[in-house]
Parts: sequence; C-alpha cells; structure tokens
Amino acid sequence: MHLFSTVAGVFNHAAELLALRAIVPFLAWSHLAPWTAPPREIAEFLLLALVQVLVIACVFRPLESLMPLEPWADRQATRIDRSYTLVKLLGVTPLFTYLVLEPLSRIGGGAVDGSDEGLTSVQHWLPWLNGHPVVLFMVYLVLFDGLQYAVHRLQHAIPWWWALHSLHHSQRQLSCWSNDRDHYLDDFLEAMILAGAALLIGVAPVSYALLNLISALLENFSHANVRLRFGAVLDKLLVSPHFHRLHHMRVDPHRPDMHNCNFALVFPVWDLVGRTALYPPRTEAPRATGVGDPVVDADNTRGLLAQQLHALRRFWVAVRCKAGWLPGDVAFDAQLRPVSVRDFDLHALEAGTPLDQARKS
Ligand SMILES: [Zn+2]
Ligand SMILES: [Zn+2]
Repeated sequence: MHLFSTVAGVFNHAAELLALRAIVPFLAWSHLAPWTAPPREIAEFLLLALVQVLVIACVFRPLESLMPLEPWADRQATRIDRSYTLVKLLGVTPLFTYLVLEPLSRIGGGAVDGSDEGLTSVQHWLPWLNGHPVVLFMVYLVLFDGLQYAVHRLQHAIPWWWALHSLHHSQRQLSCWSNDRDHYLDDFLEAMILAGAALLIGVAPVSYALLNLISALLENFSHANVRLRFGAVLDKLLVSPHFHRLHHMRVDPHRPDMHNCNFALVFPVWDLVGRTALYPPRTEAPRATGVGDPVVDADNTRGLLAQQLHALRRFWVAVRCKAGWLPGDVAFDAQLRPVSVRDFDLHALEAGTPLDQARKS
C-alpha cells in the first residue's frame, strides 16, 4: 500500500510539473486551450504513454536480448518500428485524442464523461456492476477486445482495409516495437470505432485510457521476439508472443488458409469462439513472418513516410474498384489493384515472382 501511494504521489507530482511547465505554455502559444481538455488531463495521458515506452524499452527489449526466438538477419530493418511507437505514443495519439476525439465527444453531448448511463450502457443493463468497479472494468476489457477481434477480422477480409493493414504485416522481423507499425488511416478508423463503442456503452475516459494501456502493453509484448511459452492453460487465457507470431506467418503455399488465424489481441477466447485459433504442436519450428506479396513486402525498403504514402496509394486504388470490396485474400498487381490470390500460384508468389508472372495457367 505504501509503495502504491509513493508511486501515485510521484506520478501526480510529475503530471503537475508537466502540465505547468510544458502543456500550459504550449496551449497558450498555439491558442488551442479553448478546444482541448484541461492541461492536467493531457499531462497524465502523456505520462501514461511514457510509462508504456519505458516498459517496452526497459522490460520487453532486454527480454528479447536475453532469450531471442530468432536471430535478426537485418537488425537495421527492425529500427523503423521503434520510430512508429515513439511517433504514435508521444505524438499522433495525444494529438488525435485531444484535437479530434475530445471535441467530437463534446459535440456528441459529452457522454464520454462516464456519468451517462443511457439505454446502451453496460451499467443500465447490469446495475449490479456499479458497486463492483473491478468487475465492470473486466467486462469492458472483454467487450473492448471482442470488438478489436471483429475489426481485425475485417482488416484482413476486406481488400481495401488489407491494403492499409498489410503495412503492419510487412515486417519480416517482429519485435516488441512492431505493434505500432500501422497505417495512420487504419489507426484512425479503428480508433473511431472503438471510441464510438466506448461512448455507447458508457466507459469513463479514465477507464478508456486504462483499457487502451493494458491492451496495448500486452500487444507490445505479444510482438516481442522472445523464446517464451505461456503453458497450456495461460496460452488459452492470454495472447502470447507465440500465439500472435502465428498470426504474422507468411502464407504456407501447402496450406493457403492457415495464416488466417489468431486474430485476438488480448483474450484468445475470441479466436476459440470464432474458430480461428491455431495451436500447433509445441515441437513445430517457428514459422517465417511477413507477407509473400512482393508489392507489400517492398514496404521493407521504404522509410516511415514512404510506407505511409505507398500503403495509402494501395488503399486509394482498392477502395475505388469492385475487387476492393469483395471479401477474401488478395495480392496487389503492378497498378496496385487487388487480385484474389486464388488465381495465382502461391509457391511462385512466395518465391518472389512478380504477380503478373505468377498467374495460374
Ligand atoms: Zn493482422
Ligand atoms: Zn501484429
């Protein structure tokens, strides 16, 4: 208890300092003060992001050095994912939260203050939960994760969405930083859906920030390059690095649907319910990760901005053609149009043959 109050004291003191010395002057300079939340709230949000970065850098990263699952052939190629995490957690997410989400929630009537127990809120249907905040939080966490699972299925199933999400999968060497390697439009769509649902079911902002932090930390860990197994029981309860790595496997030409597995981000129960869980024998060697489609794999030759632009071009072409809306696995042709992988020789595609030469005869 003493340790808890000390940690809380240090956190409060740091938040106060950050608010006074940095946030207040910045809001005054940028004339944004009338549009955003109180400086103290923004400071707490930024500090939580900093805690997340510190946990990744000081706990997950050393674990990767201590017990790596695979040797990295090109360490340089993993560094871009660290930039993604820093840019997202300390830049894009706070800006989005306080310049887009917060004003939107005010326009929407301010229901995000959590006091709203309207018809759609969890508390309205289960009033017993009002007296049990920890259970209520766990209910939120499970629902939040279920929605993330559904969104993730769509990111893979709808070709225009895959055009964006494939950027996350193009990394061949996963690390604890890889979770934030995403297209910003993909992040935006996901955030709008999740925040909209949170508003609807009456999640208070502080709970929403905590939901995001817990979920994101587990996702950071599940991308780590660590030789760590959870054991038969825990493996069914929480997403492990081993479980999520299978979601990132390259297409196996012998079993072309096998990679459509393990979409859950926190609780594998969603994959068990959706019949997409994959638990191969413990003796099976780790599978290669990344994407066989040469157009997507070429993301590895680009920097952050070029990756964002190229994935946006894939999306822009896909979203304007019929094939971009037909569910199923696709690759992208030279004009970035999505084409069903069923029309192609996956062995040739896996070997790096350009799409127009790998078409089945
Ligand atoms: Zn995915
Ligand atoms: Zn992932």
